[in-house]
Amino acid sequence: MSLLVWLLALLLHSDDGKSPMVGVAISGVATREHVVALTFDACATKLQANGFDDRIFDILMREKIPVTIYMTGTWAEKHPAAVKQIAAADWIEIGNHSYSHPRLTLLQPDRLRSQIRFTNRILEQRLGRPALSLRPPAGAWNQQVLRAVNEEGLPLVLWSVVSGDAGGHVPPDRMRRAVLDQTKPGGIVIFHINRRGPFTHKVLPDIIAGLRERGLRFVTVSQLLSLPDAVPIGRRPSLMGYRSFKHPGKPASDGSKAIVPATPDRQPAPDAAPPSEAPAPKRPPAGDTHENSSD
Ligand SMILES: [Zn+2]
Repeated sequence: MSLLVWLLALLLHSDDGKSPMVGVAISGVATREHVVALTFDACATKLQANGFDDRIFDILMREKIPVTIYMTGTWAEKHPAAVKQIAAADWIEIGNHSYSHPRLTLLQPDRLRSQIRFTNRILEQRLGRPALSLRPPAGAWNQQVLRAVNEEGLPLVLWSVVSGDAGGHVPPDRMRRAVLDQTKPGGIVIFHINRRGPFTHKVLPDIIAGLRERGLRFVTVSQLLSLPDAVPIGRRPSLMGYRSFKHPGKPASDGSKAIVPATPDRQPAPDAAPPSEAPAPKRPPAGDTHENSSD
């Protein structure tokens, strides 16, 4: 374990008894336990429903491994049958992936809060259990996003290993090798379960078997974060997350080049005003021009 990680641990644990999982965007944890968290994003926007990859779900049902699925509120609304199946598999953990998949960094405080709260409520109503963490669309976050998410009682969770499955541009063999090569104890791997990853179901059995062979066992994100010796590994802020399109408004290219973890923006976003105390929304948050559901 690197010196940097231990220094970070020292800093975080001296934080006046505050949870070490608050105030940091978590890309994985440092731990002595041989565990890994597989995560599956179910991204959708108001206009783009995407789908439900039941081939992946069948593998998860067969393997019965604890995993975490990050859903947008729109995805949960557009796929009620899938949501029922996931709800019935109570060993699958639920995560909040915003309501309509905007870059949360670009939202005003009240809309940011609506994206979090409204989705929490949809997921709890439809799945019968709450979201236990939030993954910001495209991995875009700044201090305002982090604070708003933490204030809703959720840790902000990114990833340490990008499968590159979305869009199908990474061939299966490369995806399998990349995930197996890059995954370390305490890691968080990102896949997609919304039919954006045409090869995910092909490589997942090998990846599960390969990680098991290396002595790793599977945990949900909340289980990973609550390990007694877990120390979060942070990530720098990133205003736009994946730079998946050159011109705003044009379709994204799935972030599939990001076979290695995304390089964060060098310039941290300026600290914005704290979120206002907006009441929980009665209606879905307004649409956002920055929505895109590819990552
Ligand atoms: Zn997404």
